[in-house]
Amino acid sequence: MILLNPKKHMRKYSDNKSREIMLKTIEFFENKGLKSIKDDDHKRIWYREYLDFIKENKIFATLLTPSKYSGDPDARWDTYRNCEFNEIISFYGLAYWYTWQVTILGLGPIWMSKNEGIKKKAAKALEEGGIFAFGLSERDHGADVYSTDMTLTPKGEGKYVANGEKYYIGNGNEAAMVSTFAKIAGTGDYAFFIANFKRPEYQLKKNVCDSQNYVANYALHDYPITDAEILVRGDEALHTALNTVNVGKYNLGWASIGICTHAFYEAINHAANRVLYGMHVTDFPHVKQMFTDAYCRLVAMKLVALRTSDYQRTASIDDRRYLLYNPVVKMKVTSQGEDVITKLWDVIAAKGFERDTYFEMAARDIRALPRLEGTVHVNIALIVKFMENYFFNPGTFPEIGKIMHTRSDEFLFNQGPARGLGRIQFHDYRHVFDQFDIPNVNVFQEQIEVFKQFLATATPDDEQKKDIDFLMSLGEIFTLVVYGQLMLEEARLQKLEADLIDQIFDVMVRDFSKFAVELYGKQSSTPKQMESSLKMIKKPAADKRRYENIWTNHVHALKDTYVMNE
Ligand SMILES: Cc1cc2nc3c(=O)[nH]c(=O)nc-3n(C[C@H](O)[C@H](O)[C@H](O)COP(=O)(O)OP(=O)(O)OC[C@H]3O[C@@H](n4cnc5c(N)ncnc54)[C@H](O)[C@@H]3O)c2cc1C
Repeated sequence: MILLNPKKHMRKYSDNKSREIMLKTIEFFENKGLKSIKDDDHKRIWYREYLDFIKENKIFATLLTPSKYSGDPDARWDTYRNCEFNEIISFYGLAYWYTWQVTILGLGPIWMSKNEGIKKKAAKALEEGGIFAFGLSERDHGADVYSTDMTLTPKGEGKYVANGEKYYIGNGNEAAMVSTFAKIAGTGDYAFFIANFKRPEYQLKKNVCDSQNYVANYALHDYPITDAEILVRGDEALHTALNTVNVGKYNLGWASIGICTHAFYEAINHAANRVLYGMHVTDFPHVKQMFTDAYCRLVAMKLVALRTSDYQRTASIDDRRYLLYNPVVKMKVTSQGEDVITKLWDVIAAKGFERDTYFEMAARDIRALPRLEGTVHVNIALIVKFMENYFFNPGTFPEIGKIMHTRSDEFLFNQGPARGLGRIQFHDYRHVFDQFDIPNVNVFQEQIEVFKQFLATATPDDEQKKDIDFLMSLGEIFTLVVYGQLMLEEARLQKLEADLIDQIFDVMVRDFSKFAVELYGKQSSTPKQMESSLKMIKKPAADKRRYENIWTNHVHALKDTYVMNE
């Protein structure tokens, strides 16, 4: 079973505690029931009940405290099991995921800092059921963190006052610690410090968003700070901000996977049981195709995210491949999620608007994930920096298997300076493609070869390299190649059925062709580039038997296998 089914949750875990956490969480939500989840969503109720459950069971403490800061032998920062938790909570609602996600972001600068006193306090706050917040964004500056206006003014003898405002800060209403990014007056040095929402100098101005989450606008007015509350300063503070986002952005892919999985069950149950003109909706050929494509995209999302966890867990200063794979998960898995929901919605139509469905919430929330914590554009602009080494200068790395061990992923808090991206090398992507002789994997490989030729012989000129719009098209195709590589690596580890791989690549070949048409049509594309783009357009290998197998045994087979408790 590839997709999560909370009522048949039989995943392998390397320890009992992890299984217990996942099962208890499922039980909490199934007992709460869909009606209550939807009522809370519609009335924008703060999820106190959920946070009390987290506190009672010390769930964030176990999952988010690196081993060395906890006395609990089960506590560790274990990316693999955090993926599982991400998937489960978003399956029940993005709001439950968001408060966990911003806790992760808030903890990033803390676990990365050398301030041992704060780390011990953070571990204690987690034990006591605390949530955390990440105060990076400001209203006027968006992604441009270099222009931060929050200021720490030195007052001598290790004392400062903080002044300024932050905007869009999740959990800013009651986080035990708000990791706040600022500049130091006079020097312009960056710094991260801890703010406490209970102090009178911390003004909680409003919830910027109309949702169950509290996405705070807060202001600090002569807020007193001492060296003891400063986490990091100088360039390291900037690297801390970027490295925290590096870790956090990966989770957005899992949120999309959880949302799409629940929505998929609702959609197939509805369509397969609905009879129109004397036939089931799922008997329409176009409905079959939409469901099959949505399923393939969803399975691919999960395979890619799972494989990326292995690279994140084994990362080191000498192996920073995760810095490409993480933005691929962020940008591609989340936008695929949007595609999945659109296809499902095209099928279930009016049903997707009904207030009692999970789908109504999914259709709204899925759109947040490609746009927040870095848009698709910001991530593609990052991804293209890796393209040259990926295709033309591969390195040698030991083969990485499935990493499910019970260990704390310490490197994530010691990532070093977030620079030198263009120098990072990758293993040769052809290695995994060559291990499959499957019709559509072969067609996809032909498309990759043409793209590589495009880069080598119709190389973008200096003007095109500066044109982010042109780079977006190149970046989409490059991302698709990396996506295919990661998916095949996971498919091999899981010994996935060949027919399913073939059907997934049927979708991928069509996507490749679509992006090639976009590249062809770019304002600045040259005749040589246009000719090369056209050669990338290929038809997937059709196979009726394979298609029927996937439809019958994978897609339609999900009908009535999961319904959430009322
Ligand atoms: C619900 C919600 C929760 C949030 N939670 C938090 C939180 O807890 N903590 C926090 O600090 N922030 C949070 N944010 C802020 C969020 O991460 C913002 O998206 C971020 O600050 C960027 O600002 P912006 O979205 O206004 O886009 P802008 O930065 O204003 O971007 C505008 C456009 O320019 C493009 N662009 C910008 N830079 C580049 C680039 N380098 N390359 C290519 N294109 C670029 C973008 O793609 C976009 O299309 C949250 C926002 C929301 C809505």
